[in-house]
Amino acid sequence: MKATLEFVEERFSRFNALCFDGKLPPIPLRISNARTYLGLSRYRKRRGADGSVELYAFSISISGRFDLPESEIEDTVIHEMIHCYIWISGRKDTSAHGRLFRDMMERINREHGRHITISHRSTPQEREQAVDSRPRPHVVALVSFKDGRTGVKVLPCTDRSLVRYRRGVMLSGKVTDIEFYHTDNPWFNRFPCSSALNVIYKKREEILPHLESASPLNVGYFSVKR
Ligand SMILES: [Zn+2]
Repeated sequence: MKATLEFVEERFSRFNALCFDGKLPPIPLRISNARTYLGLSRYRKRRGADGSVELYAFSISISGRFDLPESEIEDTVIHEMIHCYIWISGRKDTSAHGRLFRDMMERINREHGRHITISHRSTPQEREQAVDSRPRPHVVALVSFKDGRTGVKVLPCTDRSLVRYRRGVMLSGKVTDIEFYHTDNPWFNRFPCSSALNVIYKKREEILPHLESASPLNVGYFSVKR
């Protein structure tokens, strides 16, 4: 589901009673279209006559952009409520998600079976990128088939696995050529790495740009050397 104002307002009252002893005052709630966060809470600061800093104008925005399980939206609402609760209490946490925050989060998770985390600010998109964008070393086989198709295979980086894969694929009789490359281009993170004699078919022109900075590996050379 996507978060709606009605849903967020209902959950805010429900969780205020359930997890915060009803101690949170009404806080303006908004639905945003943000793609950079799931939930965000804000306040403003002012200095009182005695020089003390006062926080005020609290608000919570929940992104309505993402299609998420209901419980994940609920956990996001509670996460933002914890921030507001700490700010309103006037206590100072050790960091944005410091000791006070974690203690409350863990208590609520334990007592109410929730799965609130401190990493909620990452959106599904960001999480996917975090997994996919890390450069990792890969050995990639580019397999050309007699019928004109091209396949990609990510292999474990051992001479034995490469030699065996090459032999198996060439023996299939369906293949005209196999080239091996060493690359840490994260584009290849999406392919499962195994020794199985299979490929994932892709258009050649889609694959080649990702191999531009790759180093060719001569697998035959490995096997001759051993
Ligand atoms: Zn937070």
